[in-house]
Amino acid sequence: MVNKYLLERSLRSVWHPCTQMKQHELQPLVTIARGEGVWLYDFDGRRYLDAIGSWWVNLFGHANPQINAAIRDQLDRLEHVMLAGFTHEPVVELSERLGKLLSNKLGHCSYSSDGASAVEIALKMSFQYWYNSGHPEKNRFVSLQNDYHGETLGALSVTDVALFKDIYAPLLRPGTHVLTPDWRYASEGESGRDYALRAATALETYLQENHAVTAAFIVEPLIQGAAGMGMYHADYLKRARELCDRYQVHLIADEIAVGFGRTGTMFACEQADMVPDFLCLGKGLTAGYLPLSVVMTTDAVFSAFYHAETARAFLHSHTHAGNALACRAALATLDIFEQDNIIDTNRIKASYLNHAAHPIASHPRVKNFRNCGMIWAFEVETSDPDFSVNFFHAALKQELSLRPLGNTVYFMPPYIIDEHETDLLVAGTVRALDSC
Ligand SMILES: *Cc1c(COP(=O)(O)O)cnc(C)c1O
Repeated sequence: MVNKYLLERSLRSVWHPCTQMKQHELQPLVTIARGEGVWLYDFDGRRYLDAIGSWWVNLFGHANPQINAAIRDQLDRLEHVMLAGFTHEPVVELSERLGKLLSNKLGHCSYSSDGASAVEIALKMSFQYWYNSGHPEKNRFVSLQNDYHGETLGALSVTDVALFKDIYAPLLRPGTHVLTPDWRYASEGESGRDYALRAATALETYLQENHAVTAAFIVEPLIQGAAGMGMYHADYLKRARELCDRYQVHLIADEIAVGFGRTGTMFACEQADMVPDFLCLGKGLTAGYLPLSVVMTTDAVFSAFYHAETARAFLHSHTHAGNALACRAALATLDIFEQDNIIDTNRIKASYLNHAAHPIASHPRVKNFRNCGMIWAFEVETSDPDFSVNFFHAALKQELSLRPLGNTVYFMPPYIIDEHETDLLVAGTVRALDSC
């Protein structure tokens, strides 16, 4: 009853994101009453395993007692104060702890509220670094084919996912997308690493010719998420770092989706043993609790803005930058990483899921079953043009929240998922596959 009432009101007044609203004439929304652990519960008491972490953000489950307590405690002290002219304990402590996680090589933190805004900051900061350094001609950006960096106009300009981008082309700044290192594009018989190095050569050729007008190369490290969880060899990033150094171009690592342990290390760049000039973080930063994002950068970049002249400063602002509640949620998240040894325990969980997922990997309609850290993905052979929507509803019937990207089904479960829940996830996925 509540379900139906809320559903009607939502369709009348809420314009849901990334949704053809008319489809909801036939396919109902799921009205969620509460969440606990990996589970979401609707008003009829049905439950759904949040297997994609509520759009890749949830790390430690819903209603996590420790994060809840930290936010409650902060609520009684300070909910928010503007970060221009003021500062507060949670934002200082968070910046210091993030800096330490990156060996203090990216010690300057600039905050905003969502991933796309973090990307905007990184792009503008990179451009202005060159501008302040006497090179205003370095004002172009290069990214990868199939990369995704968010959907505001600047972020969309460096994105290469047709579904989100094509219609807005007249509004965007033209940019270049060089060959993707995603191993699904390798030639027959070519190893993932060889292919990644071939892709790096394409970046090299581009930079050789265009470095004088290029501010930065922006990249999704190790996994191209929105394009369908394309995975690639870490040596690509190693080469990219060398090339950016050689050609004096910034490297922006967009770890909004993969940061905080998703690829098996705290940050994906660690696997290539490299440090970017800008690191963008969002999504899991607050374990999915509150909107918060950050761009971390080097002393070299910071110094180019540090001057008596106001105009040389980074005059960019987001009203809720460094929100105190969100920073406390982020601090509680970092506490859990440390105290529960999450990176190590995730390795055990990943190996359990890989073993348990045999019926998926060997399913006759499944191709390219792959895993990196706490992300799994596979393509499903189908002739259904609406596979994504139909699979979503088939999965709901199996108590699973799964939202394929085209015909790519993926898992990005909260790290607290246990073995029993993993078994339910695998069994439900196989049944959903067999029903559509
Ligand atoms: C989600 C995402 C973004 C955009 O983040 P929003 O918070 O949705 O604006 C940018 N880059 C990557 C790699 C992402 O996955």
